[in-house]
Amino acid sequence: MTEGIGLENQESQLLAEIAQLHAEIERLKRDGHDLQVALSTTAEHGDLIEAQLYETNVKLQAEVVERQRAEAMLKALLDIISRERDDLAIILQTIREHGDAVDTQWHQKFNESTLLASSDSLTQIANRRGFDEHLNYQWQQMVREQAALAVILCDIDYFKQYNDTYGHPAGDNCLQQVARVLRAAVNRPQALVARYGGEEFAVILPQTEEAEALELAEQIQSAIAKLQIPHLGSRINPCVSVSMGVAWAIPREERSPNSLIAEADRCLYLAKQQGRNRIVHQIITE
Ligand code: GH3
Ligand code: MG
Ligand code: MG
Repeated sequence: MTEGIGLENQESQLLAEIAQLHAEIERLKRDGHDLQVALSTTAEHGDLIEAQLYETNVKLQAEVVERQRAEAMLKALLDIISRERDDLAIILQTIREHGDAVDTQWHQKFNESTLLASSDSLTQIANRRGFDEHLNYQWQQMVREQAALAVILCDIDYFKQYNDTYGHPAGDNCLQQVARVLRAAVNRPQALVARYGGEEFAVILPQTEEAEALELAEQIQSAIAKLQIPHLGSRINPCVSVSMGVAWAIPREERSPNSLIAEADRCLYLAKQQGRNRIVHQIITE
């Protein structure tokens, strides 16, 4: 009986142990499963991290290559710049050493060509271009100073007949003599004598009132008469004579110097109409 109880106890103890072991196995199974899950998660994340690291590494390497290339380019550029700086230094040095001579030569050439471009080769006085430039310049000056500006237009009478009678070279000579008289008569500062075209001359007289301009025109007329150049082709005089138109104005900004020329030309036309060898004058008031 006692033995039977002992066996029973042993059996139940074993059963309890078996149940305990069973529970232990179940727990271990769960732990194993959890571990497996944890392991596979770690493995998955590990792959991702490894991929990210690889990608970053590739990018960094590309960046390094790019930077090396940029550095090489910058070095090459620096080389070029320093070479060009050396060249510039040499040029600057040359300019410093010879600048004055170059400047003087250039100015000389400029003045010569300007003079050539604005002077008349036959008479050696200003040509139409020189006249226009000087008139525009003096017009602006007189606008500022509010001083008088006078213009004389002077045209040889019956010059076509002169050429017809004495020949073209004699005509040229006559033009040269008239130009010399004009140049000698007009010797005030800023005044200009020009060959306006053909056998027509013009005088620009800044800071000159009407009376002074008229007086000068009369002097020119009598000086030409004094030349006593025979002119058998002239219908009004035995010697070369001129007709003149004189205009005078106080220049204003809103007016053009052409208005002064137009007025002098109108006066010259009247002088021709009224019989030539005379002076007609007009003051511009408008
Ligand atoms: P007017 O009294 O109305 O001024 O008559 P004109 O004969 O002087 O005027 P016109 O315009 O009929 O003739 C001008 C002449 O001037 C014609 C042209 O052959 C001459 N001429 C223009 N330039 C020169 C030049 O450089 N040399 C010579 N010899 N003659 C020139
Ligand atoms: Mg004429
Ligand atoms: Mg003429």
